Order: sequence, then structure tokens, then C-alpha cells
Amino acid sequence: MVEIQLTGRAASPGLAFGPVTMLTMTVAGRTTSGDPAQEAAALRAAIEGARAELAEQIKTIQGDAADILEFQAAMLEDDALADAAYEVISTGIAADHAWRQALDVEIAGYRAAEDEYFRARAVDIVDIRERVLAHLGGADTVARIAGGSIVAADDITPSTFLATDWSQGGAIALAGGSPSSHVAMLARARGAPMVVGLGPLSWNGQPPTLALVDGDTGKVIFDPEPETIRRFEQRMVAARSELAVAEATSLAPAFIANGRRIAVLLNIAAPEDLASLNPAICDGIGLVRTEFLFEAAHGLPDEETQYRVYRDILVWAQDKPVTIRTLDAGGDKQIPGLTVDGESNPFLGLRGIRLSLARPEVFRMQLRALCRAAVHGTLKVMLPMVAVPSELDRANEILDAEFSALQAKGVACARPPLGIMVEVPAAALCARDFGAAFYSIGSNDLTQYTMAAARDIGAVADLNDTSNPAVLALIAATVEAGLKRGVEVSLCGDAAADTHLTTALLATGLTTLSVSPIAVARLKAAIAKVGS
Ligand code: PEP
Ligand code: MG
Repeated sequence: MVEIQLTGRAASPGLAFGPVTMLTMTVAGRTTSGDPAQEAAALRAAIEGARAELAEQIKTIQGDAADILEFQAAMLEDDALADAAYEVISTGIAADHAWRQALDVEIAGYRAAEDEYFRARAVDIVDIRERVLAHLGGADTVARIAGGSIVAADDITPSTFLATDWSQGGAIALAGGSPSSHVAMLARARGAPMVVGLGPLSWNGQPPTLALVDGDTGKVIFDPEPETIRRFEQRMVAARSELAVAEATSLAPAFIANGRRIAVLLNIAAPEDLASLNPAICDGIGLVRTEFLFEAAHGLPDEETQYRVYRDILVWAQDKPVTIRTLDAGGDKQIPGLTVDGESNPFLGLRGIRLSLARPEVFRMQLRALCRAAVHGTLKVMLPMVAVPSELDRANEILDAEFSALQAKGVACARPPLGIMVEVPAAALCARDFGAAFYSIGSNDLTQYTMAAARDIGAVADLNDTSNPAVLALIAATVEAGLKRGVEVSLCGDAAADTHLTTALLATGLTTLSVSPIAVARLKAAIAKVGS
């Protein structure tokens, strides 16, 4: 058998070798009642069953995985999704066919979207389609995949990913898919290598039995030759021992070869991300994305809910600095009821601090909760998407007012320092003009705005490159402004976790990087090699 080498896009790092499980979406057959009223009732019951099942699953998981299933539950609760199916049923078509037909139209719409973010959501609708079909047909809801498998498919749903035991190894190789899909986010968080965009998986004879997946370079080899396996296994052994050394030392502070200390902070999206972590792993928390609190399924959170979440994070950090970012809604983070619908270009619209200043009641409540939480640790607050100094000035005035009002009422509180994210080129170029208490570079947005290449459009992924000299120059300019003003500069975008960039980033003078917890060991190992 000749080995088949395919190259796609790396979506989650790491190496894996194992038996191939080809995934096709199958649903048990179902006998129709022939009566439109009964078929409509069957569909209603199946949707309700799927929704209840999701609600049960959500209770057993946390963090991103729960958010993703909540997104699906919210979609299932939207009656508009099933309207087209009920209409088809009323013409005498069976419930399962009607549902599939209606959802396929929806899926095709998402797949044809210009924006990769929306294209990446198509697989969530597939997930919903299959879950309801399974309830209609009485089949197992999601495919069961043996741990350690290389899952080869056109795409894979979040439910299938979550039903698989990734602790035994394994990887994902997809004909389609996207690095910004929900499954890719989960794969990165669980350490499962993943390659997407391999193109059609077609075989001349038998489907492949074994595969190698290189999630670092985006290569997948089906039915590898013995010599290829031998070399790959050598790389896996080397990578495993490198990671073991890195993990063993991940509790120690990071230094580059010349002895310069580099602070490594954590990015978190929810307090659950800290659940089983030892605070010694980091020098603090560099970015708390608070959008999770404002997602559709929960509605707008009240001050008390926010206060408790912020307090718990500060208590976990045991007096190490914690930087919480005020709500960064808009752009790729739409929050129904808060963000503006139908902007022609949401990335250049009312997002981040612009929206907070336009909706000050939501912003004021968040600032009050932050002032109250500030007494429990070392809190810093930062503003997203700042473009001009007056935005920071207005935010400082609002923070002062809320702090004074709390004090006047005798509420325990403290006034946290206010810094800015540097993610708009204008802020990087004129960083010195901002009276910020600190700067945190958001390389994801800074790169997309500098290169005019969206962070979620695959066709321009090559241009969306933080190592481009233009982006590095803006990072260096921000570091220089921080030095001149005597305030801290950190970098909290995804580039901080890309160890190919560590040398270039530290060469700009940066001494603080903030990454997700899973990336800490690798980053500290990469830092130790800089300049050696
Ligand atoms: C960034 O833009 O780099 C950043 C950290 O913010 P987000 O990814 O949440 O937009
Ligand atoms: Mg950003």
C-alpha cells in the first residue's frame, strides 16, 4: 500500500499516531406515522428531548465546552430553526426528512458565509441536526469513538469530540473544518492534535487503517510506510520527553539564557479554567475575557454575579496580579441584546470600549463589581479596543465616579489601576499619549488591523502574520512607550503561545507574555532556549 501524504492547516499542535476511525454521520431509520399532526408532535418531542439532553450534559462540563453546548441549546430554543421543518411536515413529509431538509438549508447558508467565523459554526448546526434526528429515530446520539483513534472525517461535531476520551491520545484529520471552529478550540484546550482543510479524503481501494498526524505543521500521512512510522515515532518520543521536562519545570519562573526574567501570565475565559491549576504555574493572570459572563444563555449578569466571579479569580491568584478586561463585545463576539445587529463591518464598528461608552449602564455595573472585587487581591482593569486617549480618559472618569459612589455608601471597595489593550494600530503608534497604568498588546487584533487581514478568514491566513515586520515594529513601539512612561507592557494575544515567535517577541523588549494554561509548559521551555 502506498502512503498518502496530505497537507492542511494546523489547528491544534502535537503529534499522534494510531488506527483510523472514519466518521460518517449515520442515523437509524424511522418509520413515519403518515399523519402530519403526529409527525409535528414527534419532531417537537425530539427537539425537546435533544434540548433536555444538552441541558444535562452542560451540568457535567465546564468552561468552553459548556459554552459551546449552551450555544447549541440556545439555537434549539429558537423556534425559527424548526419553522421551516413544520411547514414541510404540513405538506405530508415525514418529520425526519423535513427536519433534515430544513437544517440542510441552514447549514448550506452557514457554509457559504463569507466570514470564516460563521462558516465554522456550520458544524454546530450539523451537531444539532444529528442530535434531533437521533431522538426521532431512537439511535445513539453521538458516534462513539475509541480513545487513541485518528478521527478522519469531513468535519466533526462538538458532541462527538466531547464524547471521545482524548486522554489516551488520538488526533483529528479533517477534509474541511476550520482552526476557528468550536472543535478546534476544544482540541487545543485538551491537547488533541488537529489538522483541517486536507481536501477530499478519497482512497483508491480500502480506506486507510493507520495514520500519522502532525498538528505542528499540518501534515497527515495515511497508511504510512514502516520507515515513515519509525521516524515519526522517534519524533514523538523526543517531543514527549521535551514536554515532560517542560511540564516538570513549568512551576518554576521563566528566564532566557542571559538570565533575563520573563513573566508568564495566564489568559482565561472563565474561572473554571483555573479549577485544577497550581497558582505557582504563573506570575499572575494577564487576561480575563469577561465575555463568557454576558453570553446569550445567561442574559446580562447582575453586579452580584459579576462580583463573585471576579472575587473568586482574585482569591485563586493569591495576591499575584490579575488583569480583568472589561467587556469586549462586538466584532467576532456578538452578544444578542447588546451588540449592534447588521453592521456592515463589525470589526470596525461599535465594539469593545466604544460599545461600553455607548452603553454606560452595562459598563458602570461591571466597574462597580470590579471595584468591590478589588479588595480581595491585586486587581488591574483593562479596556479593549482603545483607539484614542479620550476613551481612556472617559473610562477613568466613570471608574472614579462609581468608586466614589460605592465609598459613599460604605461598601468595601478599591479603585483598580486602569490600563489599555494595544490592539488598534493608532494606539500602538501613539502609546505614549495615553495616561494608561499599563499596556497589554492584543496581537490577534493588532495583527488583523495592521495587515488588513481578518483573523478568521482562511484565505488571508498567510497575511495574518504577527511576525510581519510591520506588526513587530508596532509591538516594539509600544514596549518603548511603556519604558519611557515607566509602565508595564505585556502581550496577551495568541502570538504569545506560538513558540516559533518567542525569540522575535522577546527581541522587541517584551518581558511579560500571557497565554492559556495549556501553553505555559511549552512557552517556558521555549523561553529557556532564547539566546542560548
Ligand atoms: C487580542 O486581540 O489579541 C486579544 C487578546 O483579544 P481577543 O482575542 O479577545 O480579541
Ligand atoms: Mg482583541
